[in-house]
Amino acid sequence: MKLAPIAERLAGNRFILDEEEPHIEVNQEVAARTGTADRIILVCPAHVYSKAPDGTVQVEYAACLECGTCFEVADPGALSWHYPRGTYGVQFREG
Ligand code: SF4
Repeated sequence: MKLAPIAERLAGNRFILDEEEPHIEVNQEVAARTGTADRIILVCPAHVYSKAPDGTVQVEYAACLECGTCFEVADPGALSWHYPRGTYGVQFREG
């Protein structure tokens, strides 16, 4: 069975955004100093992280797949990550 491209497969998911409480926050100073910034940009399958022209990490947390990979590769204090509250976050497509 041939799978569709990853971007096409991810497009079937739904995201319910919690605008009052982001579930990801980057400590810019620690992330830059420890190399966490480059690692989380590299490993995130949903491209939640990107680097701004000033070198800071931008976070599009609405697209998070809640896989936890970024939290695993982050140095202590560089990243605050938890599951979204209640009914917020990703809803994976069925089928
Ligand atoms: S939990 Fe997974 S999808 Fe969400 S930001 Fe981290 S690496 Fe990306």
